[in-house]
Amino acid sequence: MPTPGSHTTHTTAPGVIFTDCGSLKAAAARAPARKRTKSATGRLPVLIKGKRVRTIDVHAHCLIPKALTLLPAAEAKSLYPPTKGSKEFDVALDERLAGMDAQGIDLEVLSINPWWYDKDRELVTKVIQLQNEGLAELCARQPDRLAAFASLALQFPDLAVRQLEDAVRKYGLKGAAIGGSVAGYEFADPKFHPVWAKAQELDVTLFIHPQSTPELSKRFKGNGWLSNVIGNPLDTTIALEHLIFEGTFDKFPRLKVCAAHGGGFLGSYAPRMDYGCFINPDGCNPDIKLKKKPTEYMRQIFFDSLVFTPEALRHLVAEVGASQVVIGTDHPIPWNQHPVDHVMATKSLSDKEKAAILGGNAAKLLGIKF
Ligand SMILES: [Zn+2]
Repeated sequence: MPTPGSHTTHTTAPGVIFTDCGSLKAAAARAPARKRTKSATGRLPVLIKGKRVRTIDVHAHCLIPKALTLLPAAEAKSLYPPTKGSKEFDVALDERLAGMDAQGIDLEVLSINPWWYDKDRELVTKVIQLQNEGLAELCARQPDRLAAFASLALQFPDLAVRQLEDAVRKYGLKGAAIGGSVAGYEFADPKFHPVWAKAQELDVTLFIHPQSTPELSKRFKGNGWLSNVIGNPLDTTIALEHLIFEGTFDKFPRLKVCAAHGGGFLGSYAPRMDYGCFINPDGCNPDIKLKKKPTEYMRQIFFDSLVFTPEALRHLVAEVGASQVVIGTDHPIPWNQHPVDHVMATKSLSDKEKAAILGGNAAKLLGIKF
């Protein structure tokens, strides 16, 4: 697995991935004529045994500066993460496309991490309107390379229902990006059921992106940026387990949920869920009778591939199935600069499974046609 800044032997130029020991020349000769030639870096397609594979990254960040003008300047500034790639949260199209080219990504699904769950109704209405319009405008500028998940004011579920409907029907967005919880409320809380019902009705995806488990901020202090390294995977894990154990997936069996970072810790340590209520029935609600074993719900959830090593990806696929995994990079934050190599280097996957994870699964999930 490549480390930041390195390339594996599979990659000889940005976006050119060899899977059958070909040479650059041979692969270029096999490549179909390219319809899209706008990239500045001369991106070439990803090939598996000479066959073009479209790649989709469902986990990519941005901010819409126009929406941030509604906030005090200092607060707006604080929304840019203290990380590498932060400046690119304001999308400069050529720069964004060049970054995707370097990663071998054909299409990126943009989203905005929710920062507005504590805002009042009037302000958040304006914020979400500007953001969803802004996302739609970005996608319209390069529709073959960009798609987006909408923003929703989930603290006002009735408003969020209308925003989701507008985002999908009016703006063509692919679903919505949600956090890990909403101002102290779990997604499994019945107050959010109307939103999940609307997502199910529209057949669109909810992308769960964590927000650091803020309740544990004191314990995350110290060396190592634990608020992210532990806080983010934990936040996703808590969100997903509540959705499973509170019966939300039974109530909305066709709800499409996609979890960032391989589902956090759940992706690597799921089977413990199947034993809890057996070991301690008093810790479980006798009124909730799940239709399936807790781990079985993972086979209807989607997980991004941001788990770093081929071994971790092999395990995730073993737990949830190759049909449930899609590429996630966190672009422009450089957590995974070689997402295609990561999939290709996972030897346990068949070519068919690799192609599905690289883009086929996401295309199906999001209704994307190339
Ligand atoms: Zn992210």
